[in-house]
Amino acid sequence: MSDTDRSPEPSTLSAVLARLPQTQDDLADLYRDLHAHPELSFAEARTAGVITQRLRDLDLEVTAGIGGTGVAAVLANGPGPRVLLRADFDALPVQEQTGLPYASTAEGVMHACGHDMHVTCLLGALDLLVAGRAHWSGTVTAVFQPAEEIGGGAQAMIDDGLFDRIGTPDVVLGQHVAPLPTGMVGCHPGPAFAATDALKITLYGKGAHGSRPEAAIDPVVMAAATVMRLQTVVSREIAGGETAVLTVGALNAGTKDNIIPDTAELKLNIRTFTDPVRATVLAAVKRIVEGESQAAGATRAPDIEPTGTFPVLVNNEDAVARTLAAFRRHFGEEHVLDPGQATGSEDCGIFATTSGAPMCYWIFGGTDPDTYRKAQEAGTADRDIPSNHSPHFAPLIEPTITNGVEAMTTAALTWLALRQA
Ligand code: ZN
Ligand code: ZN
Repeated sequence: MSDTDRSPEPSTLSAVLARLPQTQDDLADLYRDLHAHPELSFAEARTAGVITQRLRDLDLEVTAGIGGTGVAAVLANGPGPRVLLRADFDALPVQEQTGLPYASTAEGVMHACGHDMHVTCLLGALDLLVAGRAHWSGTVTAVFQPAEEIGGGAQAMIDDGLFDRIGTPDVVLGQHVAPLPTGMVGCHPGPAFAATDALKITLYGKGAHGSRPEAAIDPVVMAAATVMRLQTVVSREIAGGETAVLTVGALNAGTKDNIIPDTAELKLNIRTFTDPVRATVLAAVKRIVEGESQAAGATRAPDIEPTGTFPVLVNNEDAVARTLAAFRRHFGEEHVLDPGQATGSEDCGIFATTSGAPMCYWIFGGTDPDTYRKAQEAGTADRDIPSNHSPHFAPLIEPTITNGVEAMTTAALTWLALRQA
């Protein structure tokens, strides 16, 4: 075995995974139940209750109510590394359109990002690690995190003393279900998920009758010019080899055709991977918003208010190499890929940056391989395969759960100390 290949011996891994077929039906039931009962960020009371009960049934040391609805569990099993396994559990304000028999029962709320799958897989992995504790030594800590979608849950749990309660980890491991074929696992070393900056911008004009532009400073035209000019930030100020996304997701002004309103409001979402690019984009946004406002003759400077932020998620290169070596050995070389950088964001990285532990965060497939192959052959995979946050997002229950449980268990055993049972 090379230095990076610290994969658990196949015999040890298969001994721990042997119990999985007995738990599959129960895990599928759990997944359908969670999927049918989604809850929005920081309001995940029922979900946290289900998780807490399951963890107690496993005889783990459980703490609920961390950072709001967060739940953590500790399984101390002798000397050895302390491994943090993380699953998030909030849902989104999306009206489900899958037509599945276990579709959401909550109006306008859906597990459209697959966090119900993450909870199911982590509980499945914990069940195996508890039953197979004779095969390993160390401490497994499990973190069930609220409010990932609004970027507040990880920080809230840390601010509420998470590491005082469960100890400081030696490694942070997490996973996300993605629109890849089932059986595929992907991980990108280095900056893997983008930083997000969300901004609310208020432009101040001067309202008047729609027939009298001479009496007004029109914030609608100001907003339109600002939106167009903001499109030049990425195309004209960011180097070709760098990545940035700037989306104006909302533009609101006015009520009626013959009234020039007082104000206009823009909502921006910015994605970047490095501090210099982030600083360039944020400075350009400020310059353009203020400049367009001034060019329009506004009597008051615009307000630029940050409304949300995610740091970039950086995967530790050695941690990725070590974990992926184990995945290649278990799933097969052809089932492990580097998906490149994702412009999506994830607050899981905060557990690593705050504790100083290396991080390995991977994605695993939830799409029927035949469906995926046909769409890819037609060149329409990006458009036709429902992705996370789509009202049609519907991971295959199996073999997705099995793969997610196996990935989490394999990764954990790669970092724990192994012993002959
Ligand atoms: Zn999401
Ligand atoms: Zn997500």
